[in-house]
Amino acid sequence: MAGRARRLADALRKAGLKPGERVGTLMWNHHIHLEAYFGIPGAGGVMHTLNLRLHPDELAFIASHAEDRILIVDDVLLPLARRFLDRTRIEKIIVARISDEAAPGEFEDYEAFIAGGDPSEPLVEPEDEFTACSICYTSGTTGRPKGVAYSHRALMLHAMCLGMKDGWDLGQNDTTMPIVPMFHVNAWNFPYAATLVGAKQVLPGPYLDPESLLDLMAGEGVTITGAVPTIWFAVTDALRAEPGRWTLPPGIRVIAGGASPPPALVRGLDALGMVPIHGWGMTETTAGATMAHPKPEMAGWPREQVLDLFAERHLPMPLVEVRVVGDEGEAPWDGAAMGELQIRAPWVAARYHDAPGTEDRWTDQVAGDRTADGWFRTGDVANIDPAGFVKISDRTRDLVKSGGEWISSQDLENAIMGHPAVKEAAVIALPHPKWGERPLACVVLRESAAAGPDDLAAHLAAEFPKWWLPDAYEFIAELPKTSTGKFQKSVLRERYADRPWES
Ligand code: AMP
Repeated sequence: MAGRARRLADALRKAGLKPGERVGTLMWNHHIHLEAYFGIPGAGGVMHTLNLRLHPDELAFIASHAEDRILIVDDVLLPLARRFLDRTRIEKIIVARISDEAAPGEFEDYEAFIAGGDPSEPLVEPEDEFTACSICYTSGTTGRPKGVAYSHRALMLHAMCLGMKDGWDLGQNDTTMPIVPMFHVNAWNFPYAATLVGAKQVLPGPYLDPESLLDLMAGEGVTITGAVPTIWFAVTDALRAEPGRWTLPPGIRVIAGGASPPPALVRGLDALGMVPIHGWGMTETTAGATMAHPKPEMAGWPREQVLDLFAERHLPMPLVEVRVVGDEGEAPWDGAAMGELQIRAPWVAARYHDAPGTEDRWTDQVAGDRTADGWFRTGDVANIDPAGFVKISDRTRDLVKSGGEWISSQDLENAIMGHPAVKEAAVIALPHPKWGERPLACVVLRESAAAGPDDLAAHLAAEFPKWWLPDAYEFIAELPKTSTGKFQKSVLRERYADRPWES
């Protein structure tokens, strides 16, 4: 891998890549993408991972805004690339052949391209540790996507923390498998951290169905893997449907993040012999910033109690500082006071790339001091308990404000997903003439399972006050999802905006 990455670095340099110039990647998780993670920065370039699930218009905007000059693209994604290339400044296209069918056509073949590179040429040294290594754009659910550049320093410090016990306890005896895409938040830093410690790396390519993933996990002896909860629902369902078909390495760590994993999922993973680790992070935080690990005082706790805590809460990793700020300033760590989560860490972005008017996402910027870049306002609503565990309740815009009081849509949907008949659920706020807003639950039932509004209301009544319960339920075939597999509540809000309340 190192030899091929060095060849890529030299070939890029020979092709005229200048330090600091962006090279786009439009690829699945596979070995060529891993080579790009090293070869592009090794040539002094900045790797720009493009999200292959985005609309061509959005890709055109993102690739132009980042001023990508070269693109490395999977053959199977060429049809997508052709739909936005002419609206960008991309001059050179290098095609990675991952299928037997598609030919590179008029473009350069990746293998031929790197064959022209000399692996013994020295790599380009970054100007300093703050030099950008890669750049990734936010999914842009509020306004235009914004670019976040990651420095060598941020990625390195974060990778080192993943090696610590309260990160991922990653070491050379591990076999890693990032299912989280390499175009999304650096695949949570799996590639750099695994390479740093010398772990074996398994990459699933475009095959993300549960059977393919389980074949790899069992066949390659994966000891640590990570994905959004949606993937883990499918994997746990497949394991339960065919007991005995796959034997997973004992104690395999399963990182679930990107959205909150419902308690039923965390318990399910544990019951199937896996070690669930719930993490939180965002594009702006380079990768994961908090991880659920037990504190010493939890040593005697029953397993269920620990798992239920982990489904909700996670601890800042070493070097990460968090605080919750409400209307009245910093909220106390009492587990109840809610406010916006703000974060500070060496790997939290200090600005967006060329995005005037977004400076207010940070507090107290210190001009000229790149290490004192204030706190980043995450836009997530959270509370912190006395032990220091963070609980994310919602995105600020997803909370339901009913009669002046807040209802957490995330708590409700996680509880609804604990009902045996429910596959997926999303709760949204809809305008209400009397209460301002009231919750509507959109529910996908499991195949051949039955449950009605009364069953779900009874299920929720055991856990929540009456005024929290959704006023209505919509039973639908599928929930709309974002490009990274999260429930796309904006689509639901639009779809049901004019829905009359029954009473
Ligand atoms: P992205 O930048 O696309 O990775 O999205 C980041 C956002 O995903 C965060 O601001 C949260 O709203 C959400 N998110 C990520 N991890 C979690 C988690 N463990 N629990 C709840 N929300 C999460």
